[in-house]
Amino acid sequence: MPELPEVETLRRGLEKHLVGRTILEARVRVGKMVKGTITDPNVFNSSLRGTEILFVGRRGKHLINKLSSGYYLLFHLNMRGQLLMTSIEEPEAKYLAAAFVLDNGQELRFHDMWTWGEMRLVTENELTEHPALRGMGPEPLSESWTVQELSVGLAKRPKTAIKAVLLDQAVLAGVGNIYADESLHRAGVQPLRQAGSLTEAEAERLHREIRAVLTEATEGGGTTSDNYVDAEGQIGRFVPKVYDRGGKPCVACGAALTRIRVTGRGTVYCAACQH
Ligand SMILES: [Zn+2]
Repeated sequence: MPELPEVETLRRGLEKHLVGRTILEARVRVGKMVKGTITDPNVFNSSLRGTEILFVGRRGKHLINKLSSGYYLLFHLNMRGQLLMTSIEEPEAKYLAAAFVLDNGQELRFHDMWTWGEMRLVTENELTEHPALRGMGPEPLSESWTVQELSVGLAKRPKTAIKAVLLDQAVLAGVGNIYADESLHRAGVQPLRQAGSLTEAEAERLHREIRAVLTEATEGGGTTSDNYVDAEGQIGRFVPKVYDRGGKPCVACGAALTRIRVTGRGTVYCAACQH
């Protein structure tokens, strides 16, 4: 699933193409992916028609487009969703879920082979009340995210494996399987350690490494896995050091990386470097 660096890369790409553009029409091909109060494709389309995109934002893994109509158009890619800019001339691809026709001959197309992605048109009130957004934890790349805030999050679930706590969107927004494994490796913390057992120095190091790896990955255009591409169809250039590398040598010490499962998620770590 695309995580913070991938969704942020996508947001930056979409921002260049979408801000100031007017949506002429929305063609919905997979109706079940339209969630929220406006699910009728005709109403969805008529509510979007003629509205300008003012702002392309992100919260966690959610893309939030502010529209001149007062509505917000939200996208969540889930496992395999893709948002791509194309010309309106381009033939429709097999897995097209929706297309948003812009006033400059371009279209924003939402592709999703598994149709698990979501789009929704919400009012400002509904945006505030959106269950996933309302309970969402701090943004790890924001200036205001401190080690104290991380420690507060860890203290909420002290007996839980640190890896599971990092995946909890109420503790931290936008971190998923890739960057949880990467930041724990960089911080030298074993993924099954109880969250409450981290020392102050370990929490500080973890805080620093979460930020560092998310920054590096965003600068590298994200990690390419499960179909991820940016708004121009480019794959990510960030290369994970432990994620999905079970059995391969640790880049830091050469020992074979260990693969386990933590709350059902494949987890890779180095038994020699992480304690
Ligand atoms: Zn190692």
